[in-house]
Amino acid sequence: MEQVGVREGFEELYGAAPEGVWAAPGRVNLIGEYTDFNEGFVMPLALPHTAVAAVSRRSDGVLRLHSADIEGPVVELRVDELTPRSDTGWAAYPAGVVWALREAGHAIGGADLHLSSTVPTGAGLSSSAALEVVTALALDELYGLGLTRPELARLAQRAENDFVGVPCGVMDQTASACCTEGHALHLDCRDLSIRQVPFDLAAQGLELLVVDTRVKHALGDGAYAERRAGCEEGARQLGVSHLRDVAYEELDAALARLSDERVRRYVRHVVSDDHRVERVITLLDAGDVRAIGPVLTDGHASLRDDLRISCPELDLAVSAANSAGALGARMTGGGFGGSAVVLVEAADADGVTKAVVEAFAEAGFTAPRVFPAVPSAGARRIG
Ligand code: ADP
Ligand code: MG
Repeated sequence: MEQVGVREGFEELYGAAPEGVWAAPGRVNLIGEYTDFNEGFVMPLALPHTAVAAVSRRSDGVLRLHSADIEGPVVELRVDELTPRSDTGWAAYPAGVVWALREAGHAIGGADLHLSSTVPTGAGLSSSAALEVVTALALDELYGLGLTRPELARLAQRAENDFVGVPCGVMDQTASACCTEGHALHLDCRDLSIRQVPFDLAAQGLELLVVDTRVKHALGDGAYAERRAGCEEGARQLGVSHLRDVAYEELDAALARLSDERVRRYVRHVVSDDHRVERVITLLDAGDVRAIGPVLTDGHASLRDDLRISCPELDLAVSAANSAGALGARMTGGGFGGSAVVLVEAADADGVTKAVVEAFAEAGFTAPRVFPAVPSAGARRIG
């Protein structure tokens, strides 16, 4: 459906059929938060929601970009004049990918691109990575670059870091590029190795709900940098290069060596969350999917009490879901708003959703958006 609309939109805009149509998903992180820059573990899965792009090559150095979801004309740029952090609005994401590919020595001679996305924006579900990865994959295939998925993810990250100017890790782009249906992706943020971990919820009679709180508190603006600095301080005081190097078995001894209460809390979160990722992997490999529920809820408590990046809406989503019979729940992403994930028996999904929506109404919060996160395929050609 999307594919037909995007193909037709391309033809209307540019007067010819596109050479192909590609899709790349948004993602949600199951477990492992603020662990990426500590060279630890994360475990995202791809959503069924995708950015879909119809693309053709050009040989005249012109890049034309259009989004069906944004009011406004086609953005026209020259590939040899692309400048990092220039004010190109949404177009900076696909333009940044062209820039990153060219910086890496790939001869991209231009392109026409028209896209549409079903990934909610600004909900912590990585609509930006979906945009970058769909552009990167389309250009890789059209120009025959032969890049691997992890290479495409790193180029997309470079586009976001250095061209758009957002200091994100590589998880979002890796999830969008590398996830597979029915799996979560174990990403080791030290060596960037990946492994597909079975996470076939439907086969187990389970669902993972995403609760998009639809809020983003301004408090979060400086918090990422502050937590990051605190973690680096913790690593320095413990004499390790990154908190990844503190073994869970040595956590208590490590905490006893830290004098600063705030740093101690951050260290406890990071080291215990890395451990929770390993615990979840062990359980999923054993097929014991239900047992990950309490691990998710423990992870939420750690983010709320130790890292202190939750907010009333996220705490309510988790507590209301668990009170209504969910197997476990946690906030996901950067915090201070965005989304939570909730593991439920499929038969309880409607009841838990209703309970969360009612709790939000009672608290006077904006109505949340709740939908199932079916572990879906990563980026692919669809037409
Ligand atoms: P998130 O990645 O968590 O959704 P970001 O702030 O990183 O939030 O990225 C959102 C930005 O990505 C939007 O402000 C917009 O510039 C761009 N974007 C996302 N989806 C689209 C779309 N369908 N069309 C155009 N731009 C989009
Ligand atoms: Mg983003």
